[in-house]
Amino acid sequence: MNPTEPSRPALGTLSEDERLFRDSVHAFADRDIRPLVREMDEQATIPRALLDKLFALGLMGIEIPEADGGSGASFFHAVLAVEALSTVDPAIAVVVDVQNTLVVNALLRHGASDLQRRYLPKLASSTIGAYALSEAGSGSDAFAMATRATATGDGWTLSGRKLWITNSHEADVFIVFATVDRTAGYHGVTAFLVERGFPGFAIGRKEDKLGIRASSTCELLFDDCHVPGANIVGEVGKGYKLAIETLNEGRIGIGAQMVGLAQGALDHAMTYTKARHQFGKPIAEFQAVQHQLARAATDIHAARLTVYEAARLRDTERPFLTEAAMCKLFASEVAERVASLAVNLLGGNGFVKEYPVEKLFRDAKIGQIYEGTSNLQLQTIAKQILR
Ligand SMILES: Cc1cc2nc3c(=O)[nH]c(=O)nc-3n(C[C@H](O)[C@H](O)[C@H](O)COP(=O)(O)OP(=O)(O)OC[C@H]3O[C@@H](n4cnc5c(N)ncnc54)[C@H](O)[C@@H]3O)c2cc1C
Repeated sequence: MNPTEPSRPALGTLSEDERLFRDSVHAFADRDIRPLVREMDEQATIPRALLDKLFALGLMGIEIPEADGGSGASFFHAVLAVEALSTVDPAIAVVVDVQNTLVVNALLRHGASDLQRRYLPKLASSTIGAYALSEAGSGSDAFAMATRATATGDGWTLSGRKLWITNSHEADVFIVFATVDRTAGYHGVTAFLVERGFPGFAIGRKEDKLGIRASSTCELLFDDCHVPGANIVGEVGKGYKLAIETLNEGRIGIGAQMVGLAQGALDHAMTYTKARHQFGKPIAEFQAVQHQLARAATDIHAARLTVYEAARLRDTERPFLTEAAMCKLFASEVAERVASLAVNLLGGNGFVKEYPVEKLFRDAKIGQIYEGTSNLQLQTIAKQILR
């Protein structure tokens, strides 16, 4: 080894700026979110005042340029924010995740400058966004969508329904995928930016969920909804490319959500096992318990490195498709495992709502479902490694 070669940072090393950012988000989550977590979960709502704080901290427009009112930071910063928030509440983290890694990301990468000028300042300051791809008949097979867009003189009319749309109860801006020609398969898929007030658009049923209950998940109804021609995101027939690209990136955010969740569960388990005495000593002094905690910490460390690696690859414009699928697949399994262990280590207290780990256990399950199920991640990885 050449001793004069500048030393390379370790894979998990954060810059001073990244560390300060992560710590400030964590401190905010601890102070302003933690006291609300149980009530938000039970009521399945998020107070608007808390959403306003996310905007005030710059967490809803992390990659939006400063000139448009955003934080002008990197995708990696968004990943750090999602991870830090998830240690306290993965339901709040997913609001930030969808806003940054899907909605803002799609506009920054594919939106025309007029669309960016009209919507980015709002998204950075007060407007929540949602990303509507899934339908009742098209989940994993997302491009088999039935929602159709028909050209009119000055724009398009959308007809159909979207299902499972995160943030939709609070959102004012929706990126909606519809097909302009069903016979063209995925080449007909086009992305539209729809405002809540557009005629013919309504928010439907809100789902009553197992986990991440505070995060809203609703149906969207389009009944000849008129969308101006200028509100196409990207190009007609190129929506599939936009969706694939943004979801590949979004997956890294979900990996971060699952790492944060697992870390939150492990932190609770460590605090509890050090305080709880059985057989005359803290249960953390039993080797069997220590080994379980050690394995969980190792799992989380490995998952975090896969997430950071994928995010760094994305920020430096290198291929990251396989790494993104791997990090979501692995981190969501780790989250489920660690949250389950935390429930076990808290004993009876792990099973009741007075303690926070049963919620994290419920929240963990979503990591294996949205933004591509684990089977779909395995399919992506297999396709890449077998090429
Ligand atoms: C809380 C929540 C929030 C969501 N937020 C959004 C959102 O904001 N925007 C949005 O567009 N969507 C959202 N979704 C939808 C989500 O992305 C889909 O639920 C997911 O992609 C799976 O689709 P599906 O539910 O139709 O399941 P299906 O596609 O019917 O899958 C059912 C099972 O079959 C398996 N399967 C399907 N195809 C294959 C295959 N080819 N090979 C092997 N196994 C297969 C799957 O892995 C799964 O286990 C959300 C869902 C939930 C629950």
